[in-house]
Amino acid sequence: MENNYSFYIVDDDPILIQLLAKLLESKGHRVMHNSSSVAALAEILENKPDCVILDIMMPGLDGFEICKRLRKESGFDKVKIVFVSGKPYDFDRNQAFSFGADGYFIKPIDVKTFPDQILRIINDNIDLAFWGVRGTLPVPGAGSIKYGGNTSCVTLKFPKGEFFIFDAGTGIKCLSDHLLKSKVGKIDGKIFISHPHWDHINALQFFVPFYIQGNEFQVCGPAHGDLTMREIISSQMEGVHFPIKIKEFAARVYFSDLKEESFDVGSIVVKTMLLNHPGNCLGYRIEYKDRIFCYITDNELYPEDSRFYNKTYLTKLINFIQGANALVTDCTYTDEEYKSKVSYGHSSVTQVAELAHKANVEALYLFHHDPDQSDQDIEKKWEMTRQVLKDLGSKTICIAPMEQQTFIV
Ligand SMILES: [Zn+2]
Ligand SMILES: [Zn+2]
Repeated sequence: MENNYSFYIVDDDPILIQLLAKLLESKGHRVMHNSSSVAALAEILENKPDCVILDIMMPGLDGFEICKRLRKESGFDKVKIVFVSGKPYDFDRNQAFSFGADGYFIKPIDVKTFPDQILRIINDNIDLAFWGVRGTLPVPGAGSIKYGGNTSCVTLKFPKGEFFIFDAGTGIKCLSDHLLKSKVGKIDGKIFISHPHWDHINALQFFVPFYIQGNEFQVCGPAHGDLTMREIISSQMEGVHFPIKIKEFAARVYFSDLKEESFDVGSIVVKTMLLNHPGNCLGYRIEYKDRIFCYITDNELYPEDSRFYNKTYLTKLINFIQGANALVTDCTYTDEEYKSKVSYGHSSVTQVAELAHKANVEALYLFHHDPDQSDQDIEKKWEMTRQVLKDLGSKTICIAPMEQQTFIV
């Protein structure tokens, strides 16, 4: 994909125009601009840039007006429209998106991150980040320097700012530190819990954005009989386990119980499926435009010669993850290790590789490593998985992600 784009900036503040133009030109992009919104509209229609950057409050035509007019023009549906405004209010942000904007930045912009962020909007990228790749137990120390020792936590960030967190193992503390350091402002996120085993929930109360007023989080996951998600999380914060109660969160944190279902978050579709693991454990399929991300952990895939082998379940799972651009999945054991861990609820290399291949997955991310495995052991598992895929003649690529590593879906 071409990496240099044409921009048109409309802002009645010439200093901001200068700053944005300099930033974008330094990255090789072409920039036109006008501080008169009326004159700008005609020039935008004539030049049809890849991306229009608009202020909201301007004399003559305001930014919303220009956005609405451009969205009505034929041939302008692919042109990205991004607001850079001094208005930090949700109302204006939502208005912008309802008029067809693709992005919304609040002034003052962060000059370090702005060029990358705007490219993410233009390319419509989803950012995938790993904050903890281990299963069962955190493993600090010399054996986990490369891949990291934290338990399950993965995030997705969408071009319009939607933020999804999958699981709250100890990796969520790294995410928390990262969010505080990057001063992202108000955070509105969804936390999808696969299941309430310790390695997927026990650092949730160390997620500092919960204690900051103005933030908002929906924590979703499977109920267990009469035990709701709220009760499951609050029970690990009751007196003897932790001194702060759920009621003391300063952010708005609310809980939802999920079953096998499908629902929308804006233009994103979330689908869930119950996985083969002790208790209720949900896998997630996230669809955004033509992109598919699947988070399937913890999950046991029985080899075909096992007496527990269940073809119906396997077929259902293959259909559920079919065509995923990214599959993050439980690959806890080598095939050899699995022999003594049957019915622990986790999968091994060959089963995972075959699953990804049969489902036409583009990129398979090995996840939820056993606590007894060192970095070298993970590397061996990675090699083994790639070999199985090669033997299958598969197009699926295999990645062993490291803690804090980011990818584009
Ligand atoms: Zn686990
Ligand atoms: Zn588990």
